[in-house]
Amino acid sequence: MTNLGFQAAYNLFNLMPECVCERAFLPDADELEEHARTSTPLFSYESQTPASEFDIVAFSLPFEEDYPNIPRLLNLIGIPVNSSQRPSLSPLVMAGGVAVSLNPLPVAGFFDLFLIGEAEGAIEPFVEAHKAASRLLRLDALRELDRLKYVFIPSLYDYSYDGATLKGMSPKPGAKARVVASKNLNLDAYPIPRSFIVTPESEFKGAYLAEIERGCPRGCRFCAAGFLYLPPRWRDAVSVKDTIRRGVETTGKAGLVGTAVSEYPWIKETIEAGIEAGGTMTLSSLRLDMLDAGLVGLLKKAGYQTVTLAPEAGSGRLRNVINKCVTDADIMEAARLVAEAGFLKMKLYFLIGLPTETDGDAAAIVELVSAMKGVMKRGGITLSVNPFIPKPAIPFQWAAFEDAKVIEGRLSIIKRGLSRVSGVIIKSMSVKDAFVQAYISRADPRAGAIIAEASEAGWRPTVRKYAGFMEGSVYRGREKDELLPWDVIDHGLKRQYLWKEYQKGLCGKTTPPCDVGACLRCGVCVAS
Ligand code: SF4
Repeated sequence: MTNLGFQAAYNLFNLMPECVCERAFLPDADELEEHARTSTPLFSYESQTPASEFDIVAFSLPFEEDYPNIPRLLNLIGIPVNSSQRPSLSPLVMAGGVAVSLNPLPVAGFFDLFLIGEAEGAIEPFVEAHKAASRLLRLDALRELDRLKYVFIPSLYDYSYDGATLKGMSPKPGAKARVVASKNLNLDAYPIPRSFIVTPESEFKGAYLAEIERGCPRGCRFCAAGFLYLPPRWRDAVSVKDTIRRGVETTGKAGLVGTAVSEYPWIKETIEAGIEAGGTMTLSSLRLDMLDAGLVGLLKKAGYQTVTLAPEAGSGRLRNVINKCVTDADIMEAARLVAEAGFLKMKLYFLIGLPTETDGDAAAIVELVSAMKGVMKRGGITLSVNPFIPKPAIPFQWAAFEDAKVIEGRLSIIKRGLSRVSGVIIKSMSVKDAFVQAYISRADPRAGAIIAEASEAGWRPTVRKYAGFMEGSVYRGREKDELLPWDVIDHGLKRQYLWKEYQKGLCGKTTPPCDVGACLRCGVCVAS
């Protein structure tokens, strides 16, 4: 409900005078029982209209974990789960969001169409095209919408398979060969994505969130958001500060959102604006080599409670592999600044199962965190240690997911090693959940049947049933030139560049950050 991407799309639809967009959510388990008992279909919050009566049912899908909820919601609405079985008068069912913009294929069978990429600049032409096509028969209307370069209509392609791999994906006559992800290169041309719904009952507990920047210049090779949102773009400082002031005046608490908020050139004055307006501030994780005494002091003044940093790997060698490019000295300096400013809580993100990782790298996490705890004598450190999941559209898209037993082994090295250090808590995503996400992230349309089964039976029995098939995908490194399910999407990144970055990573060679205006290397920026 608080997701800014979803709220931005909701606002953009409603800014069009001829368009009314209302919200509906998957009910909680007890409410679902009530829906079933009373045969009540899903209806909208705003006008209590049954969702099936809208022209379009649009899903916002930021995370792969949401996918089993798609069949649940469609059943609740009363729309056939498979797009091929929908009658011609059924609403169009579409999806957008980060997860499907990376790879829409795993859920291709559930949707009539996808809007790939960023919503600004895509929604208005889509609504216009939909209006013009609404008198046509369903298939003809979809063909009309296919003219928009960022619309992906999965039923307009033929798919063929060879064992675990997708062998072919060819457009049917008249359909376009590639879908170009929509990108809003001028953030200031559109309203700042910000909270329209603020409630203590949701994530971020009543904070007014605003997106201050998009894209990260650093090129960490494991990070899907980092590559998907290239190039880095900053919003105008004056309107950002105005928005934050308004937010603080309304709710008393503002949250700065972005792919890399600490890279925002006006981050300090933005925090100051929130403080001057009398509110507290919250930020997503901070780039640790961007911290200095001034920024840490401001965060303290802004009521920031837990400093969240992301070393990602314990050894300098592995940080070079992933292009994190921070040294042990940088990390220790950040810990010192945080401790000296009087913070009592620090959260650290680490990944395990990264390409080329060894048990020694896991032991290096123990050493590093022990040293940081030595600096941060008062208070505690919480580690979030999660398995690395190879995602589409990143240099590591070709890498295999690490064997579950190896991941468990590395996790126990970290847990055992840090059990002797007081004030350190370790949290970790379950390896089984990571395995499922690793399968879905890079899957082809055959995943749809597995997801539909999981939506009824749950993931554990479904994974047992399809273990061989899923393992064949999850544990397999991809060939350099093999067809990848998301190859149909042009994310703007040159495949050759991503492969070169992967190879550089395996050798531990680093790449400097973006130099927007002077650099054309990845394909996203074009010569002006
Ligand atoms: S072309 Fe260069 S500056 Fe532009 S997004 Fe790619 S790496 Fe960054």
